[in-house]
Amino acid sequence: MPQTPAVKTPARIPATLIPGDGIGPEIVDAALAALDALGAPFEWDRQIAGLEGVKSAGDPLPAATLASIRRTRLALKGPLETPSAGGYRSSNVRLREEFQLYANLRPALTIVPGGRFDNIDLVVVRENLEGLYIGHEHYIKIDDDPHAVAMATGVNTRQGSRRLLEFAFTHAVATGRKKVTIVHKANIMKALTGIFLETGLELYERKFKGKFVLETVIIDACAMKLVLNPWQFDVLVTTNLFGDILSDLVAGLVGGLGMTPGGNIGADAAIFEAVHGSAPDIAGKGIANPTALLLAAAMMLDHCRLQDKAARLRAAISAALNVDNVKTGDLGGKSTTAEFTRALVARINNS
Ligand code: NAD
Repeated sequence: MPQTPAVKTPARIPATLIPGDGIGPEIVDAALAALDALGAPFEWDRQIAGLEGVKSAGDPLPAATLASIRRTRLALKGPLETPSAGGYRSSNVRLREEFQLYANLRPALTIVPGGRFDNIDLVVVRENLEGLYIGHEHYIKIDDDPHAVAMATGVNTRQGSRRLLEFAFTHAVATGRKKVTIVHKANIMKALTGIFLETGLELYERKFKGKFVLETVIIDACAMKLVLNPWQFDVLVTTNLFGDILSDLVAGLVGGLGMTPGGNIGADAAIFEAVHGSAPDIAGKGIANPTALLLAAAMMLDHCRLQDKAARLRAAISAALNVDNVKTGDLGGKSTTAEFTRALVARINNS
């Protein structure tokens, strides 16, 4: 992946650690065990956010957490809970805004073969700061119904679209990708997603023509094509809400949400996390699959130019899953998070 922020590899690398909510602390423990076994030089500053922030500090994004990331410019984060339809605003969205993490890089790669779809190797690049996702919403009261009408405003800018598209195109070239597909809905939301499409086509003509094949597809058709023949795609670049939905869809192609990591990347900070949420239905049971967060940790190692350790981590994950056959329930196995972590650490120690 492109090393957007200029991160050096000093002896110790200060980094913020947010265990998060639900299964967060369980999968973060697995990631820490793996990173320790690799001898990764992160100097962790442990902070809280989300529901844990509300419970312990009365704030879903405490000032100390923001100050920590302002200092380290680097974080590994467990999932953060956001209440639906009311309650506090998403701490994830606020973190992305605060540190201008405009690019959300979400690779989906088949690690465990033999699933419904094999040999998947896709990347979703999601715009992370604009669109309908910004949450500029309100209700209009009519008579005695305070929620009679709901309204939302989406905002996409030329500049915001261009920097994200430039990130995606540069990433495609740097990683030898053959095709980039711009996903949009410019037939209906002609202005809101038309600006993204138009900016992408213009940028390709001006700067990237011939370096890869550029295609465009409407979001609804894209969803169908991904299910019928996902191999026709390579890099998918899209606006915030569509990227949110498509990244869960492509997670489903590689074994589910337990398998897909994400990097939130800006000009001078980056936060790595799993694509999935806090999974309250399985929290505390010790059965969560930590692979997505482990793959996020591998992205973080790459980002810090520790590619050797990242490669060892990815190889150990694959060996623990495929050779040792230690799999959590979501992958059809019976192992616990702790059993998988033990197999993984043994693999790392032998690598
Ligand atoms: P979810 O991703 O937490 O869970 C969806 C389903 O996938 C659940 O059945 C869950 O058990 C399963 N799942 C998810 N991760 C798994 C793993 N590692 N191993 C095994 N199974 C796993 O989505 P949700 O239930 O819609 O959301 C729960 C909370 O998470 C909400 O408050 C939401 O706002 C939040 N959320 C946070 C983030 C983030 O922090 N980046 C992302 C998405 C959702």
